[in-house]
Amino acid sequence: MFENQKIECILPPQKNIALIAHDNMKPEMVEWCQQNKAILAHHFLCGTGTTAKLVSDRTGLPVRGYNSGPLGGDQQIGARIVDGKIDVVIFFSDPLTAQPHDPDVKALLRIAQVYDIPIANNRATADFIIRSPLMESAYSRFLLNFRQQVQERAEKL
Ligand code: PGA
Repeated sequence: MFENQKIECILPPQKNIALIAHDNMKPEMVEWCQQNKAILAHHFLCGTGTTAKLVSDRTGLPVRGYNSGPLGGDQQIGARIVDGKIDVVIFFSDPLTAQPHDPDVKALLRIAQVYDIPIANNRATADFIIRSPLMESAYSRFLLNFRQQVQERAEKL
């Protein structure tokens, strides 16, 4: 019954990149952004509140800030992924410290997976992503046709 036809969604050559770092990882995020400033300058940057401000202040790159992560910033970024407004996520999460907003973090990881968004959760992955030739070209993702799925579910249930 559910056809699950895929629709093509394009990640553009100039990417919308979301930056998020937990507190212990913020120095590494700033350093990584400084190191990759020339590449990042070709794209549009946004991030959770504190990360965005730190990166912007320390690199001079423009970074649109959402709310701080524990105050809903991760959820805002997740919603932007659903709307097709974020193409790549660089998320330096802290694997050794409990976070009060762990459910939001999990939700963000899940929604990035659902929407087939490249997401780095450590520096090595971020390095591989940022140096990929796909960062400078269009990339086709094939996603579930959510509208069709809603239609079919509404007819069936
Ligand atoms: P912050 O949020 O950039 O506002 O610190 C990041 C997070 O902890 O998710």
